[in-house]
Amino acid sequence: MPRSLHVRVDRRLLHAEARSRRHLRVDVVAPRRQRRAGLSLGLVLDCSGSMAGAKLNLAREGAIRAVQALRLDDQMSVVAYSDEVQVLIRSGAADEPARRVAEQRLRQLEAGGNTDLCGGWLRGCEQVGLGLEGRRLGRCLLLTDGLANLGITDRRTIVGHAAELRSRGVTTSTLGVGRDFDEVLLREMAEAGGGNFYFAEGASQLADFIAGETGEAIRVVARDAALVLDLPEGASLTSPNPFRVRTEQTRSVVELGDLVEDQVLSLVVTVEIPAGTAGERVAAQCWLWDPGGVLEGSAELEFRYADQGEYRAEARDRDVDREVVEAYAAAARRHAAELAREGRAEKGREVLAKLAAEVRRHAGDDPPLLALAGELEKEAARLAQMDSLEYKRLEFATFGTLRSKGEDGMTLGTVGFTSRTLNLMMQAHLSGPDRTAVRVAAVTADKESTRLVESAGQALTAADARAFAYSVVDGGARILDSGPGVALSRDDELGLAYAMATTGDAVKVAFVRGLLEDGAAAHWHAKESAAIVSLSAWNEAAAAPAEAFVACEMVLQGLRQRCPGWDPSVPSHPDARKCWGDSGDGPAGIEGKIRAGDLCPSCRQFFGAAGIDVPGLVSLVARVRELAESPAAMRS
Ligand SMILES: [Zn+2]
Repeated sequence: MPRSLHVRVDRRLLHAEARSRRHLRVDVVAPRRQRRAGLSLGLVLDCSGSMAGAKLNLAREGAIRAVQALRLDDQMSVVAYSDEVQVLIRSGAADEPARRVAEQRLRQLEAGGNTDLCGGWLRGCEQVGLGLEGRRLGRCLLLTDGLANLGITDRRTIVGHAAELRSRGVTTSTLGVGRDFDEVLLREMAEAGGGNFYFAEGASQLADFIAGETGEAIRVVARDAALVLDLPEGASLTSPNPFRVRTEQTRSVVELGDLVEDQVLSLVVTVEIPAGTAGERVAAQCWLWDPGGVLEGSAELEFRYADQGEYRAEARDRDVDREVVEAYAAAARRHAAELAREGRAEKGREVLAKLAAEVRRHAGDDPPLLALAGELEKEAARLAQMDSLEYKRLEFATFGTLRSKGEDGMTLGTVGFTSRTLNLMMQAHLSGPDRTAVRVAAVTADKESTRLVESAGQALTAADARAFAYSVVDGGARILDSGPGVALSRDDELGLAYAMATTGDAVKVAFVRGLLEDGAAAHWHAKESAAIVSLSAWNEAAAAPAEAFVACEMVLQGLRQRCPGWDPSVPSHPDARKCWGDSGDGPAGIEGKIRAGDLCPSCRQFFGAAGIDVPGLVSLVARVRELAESPAAMRS
């Protein structure tokens, strides 16, 4: 099983004379489902007059789809509300007769009257609560298109109820449609209630959101998950992500809520650590915890105090910086919009401008960070002109950013996450395609693989800069990598290839630490222009250093795309004349290619006809052999 916890730190040094703020980027990867818990699902539908027509029709369709997705031993209930609250389906087993009745009553539902949002929702939660026995998961989805204008209407009171219900096992998700509902109320209900917040601009998304939310509830694998951190004495912890943090002495617990199978939840944790003595080391421990014991994984982070000069000189992890800034930007956007809504747009503008200035101060020449600062400045300038629809879009987008949701509002699984990370990271690296060079975007799973790729890539570029260009996406494959020696499942491999396919037309080569399922050293996914290469296949089989293997694979895979139809795994030289084109692509074959270090006349002719710069290619091939023969020079 892949580890569930991945932690990266922006830097490792602490200031000896002042408090330091270190940012942690934490990825929590939920495992695949084994057996799911039962579900008690409650749907609460707004039937006030404004819902009449398409909105009610599609809400009804979504509700019917949701009911059909349930298991026979799940519990379900449906509540409709307007002026009055009506329990359409009492909590009970979702068996065939109950489903038929539910469908029939939903079809008869009509719209009219006011919005007793709180009354309807509380009744729905009560029905969910009735079906909780047997450790079922309780989920209540509230749909509305309007303001709470009947019954309890005070935001704080309603949000307080949501938190209370969550502690009793009933999670609340909310779905707002149109431009007239209260987005802050619905978002806060979802956050306090441990569920999701959705915004449908038009009726057309309603059915998908209702069915999608039910689909997520069904896929929950870890309930009430938490990230636990033991910090050094005197340290404190905060997070821009909207998770509740409990702190007791040196231990902080970040409540992550329920996790869906395969989900990747990313969050930023900021730790403030007091001054200390230069040279001294302190450590923080973090691990995952959930009552069912589904998640596993821990990490120890070690920091060292340094004097001013050394502290200033330390390089930062730019990927972590970007994610940290994204999270703080989302929190600032939300805060600024809140101020603008209260008629204090000027104050909101200050919030955004201040963050933009801070990002600029720390951005150096990092293009993504500079771009983000520019966006924040633009948003600050037009904050006062935002209308009610834009506020809703912003609430939905920031909820998504801070809770690892895709643009469609759905939870990101490993594939969605990987393509999002890769897209973010590759934008910075790949400039336009270069027709003359073999161009490779290498994706790695850990620092060691990144070092190998850098070392091999630099050697090839030094051999002929016009023949070879590369970039590295450090850590881009870490989520789907099963770890050294562990086989990467076919599903994970396809997922990784698919994720890489969405990131432009350069050849992508993922170097994973795990073995491939069939034991091959590499697989080529032609449609995706992506190769998955196993580093452990090489480590176990070959005598030559891994740099040579990595360099060889980058050239081979890059050539595959330039020469469609050419397959290096098919030995094309029956007389074994020791050419790069000779031998297969198993470890022994690759070793043969590396040792050959040259191309025979017929292969030169073939690659020349395919438009490859042959002298350039020959110098690459020769350089790969040098790497194999003089490892000491490369390792220094
Ligand atoms: Zn040949």
